[in-house]
Amino acid sequence: MMNLFGRKYFINPETLRFERVRLSWRERIRYILAVGLGLIALAVGMRYGFERYYPTPRQLIYENDNIRLRSEYVALNSNLQHFESQLAELRNRDDRFYRSILNLEPVPASIREAGTGGSEPYGQLHNIREPGLITDVSNRIDKISNRLQIQSSSLETVYREAVTNKQFLACRPSINPISSADPCWVTSTYGYRLDPFTHRRTAHHGIDLAGPYGLNIHSTGDGTVVSAGFSRYGYGKEVIVDHGFGYTTRYAHLQEILVRPGQQLKRGEVMGTLGSTGRSTGPHLHYEVRKNGRSVNPFYFFFENLSPQEYNLLASRVNQPEIPVHSGAMSQE
Ligand SMILES: [Zn+2]
Repeated sequence: MMNLFGRKYFINPETLRFERVRLSWRERIRYILAVGLGLIALAVGMRYGFERYYPTPRQLIYENDNIRLRSEYVALNSNLQHFESQLAELRNRDDRFYRSILNLEPVPASIREAGTGGSEPYGQLHNIREPGLITDVSNRIDKISNRLQIQSSSLETVYREAVTNKQFLACRPSINPISSADPCWVTSTYGYRLDPFTHRRTAHHGIDLAGPYGLNIHSTGDGTVVSAGFSRYGYGKEVIVDHGFGYTTRYAHLQEILVRPGQQLKRGEVMGTLGSTGRSTGPHLHYEVRKNGRSVNPFYFFFENLSPQEYNLLASRVNQPEIPVHSGAMSQE
């Protein structure tokens, strides 16, 4: 027989009384351990069951956090899609517009797409319950950051090209040396013609623009005066301007020279006045454009201060002996 406290008793047949059974130490320890383990198992089981049906406040907070984080990840994913499409648009503009204007090759796709992937970059995330969402977002952020880096270095190249190009555009001779407000007309075009003095067929390396004495003659691009004085070759008083990038211009038969060698000129700056010095039959400007030392047709450099109508008029009448260069000259005919 056993009472509540695990003590064993027996009836002594001799005394007919209950007497306590004496347990050995080993039996006692075994007995205590069994009871203890049983109690622990019971406590753990109760706690597990309780938590399963009645979550603790802390668990509730974690679960809410989890739901919120998940929905934020989903939102982040869709934001990334927005960034990706903006980046794609920028890339498109860069290749098709900025780079093509400046004659740069598009950035090869292999370079644009490089630097992503690799084996299991987010291995540590596989321990969590839903790694797909997080690896997806992290992957996309990696790709976007790589593409941004490539895009930024491409735009840097574009910027550098544009600065050089801006300088080139400022220097390149590209206007009429006589203002469109002043009257003038073409008396001799570029190419072969009969020399007015020798009456022999000779090459004419520029164009002749006739007008009244004293008209302002403008530099057709930014540059440096390399020569300003009386020509030994029949050009009379002439100015030669070096525009860099291989371009030089000559303004000949001037009445007056208003610049000196070494002087820096801006496009449109006046360097002299129209005259008839040297081998000239009447007041006119002989204007020449040279590229790397070879003369080119100045007519094709007149695009900046001519309206499309004026340009077309000039182009259509370029082989006729007298061509008004701009509408202001019409009244002079
Ligand atoms: Zn000439």
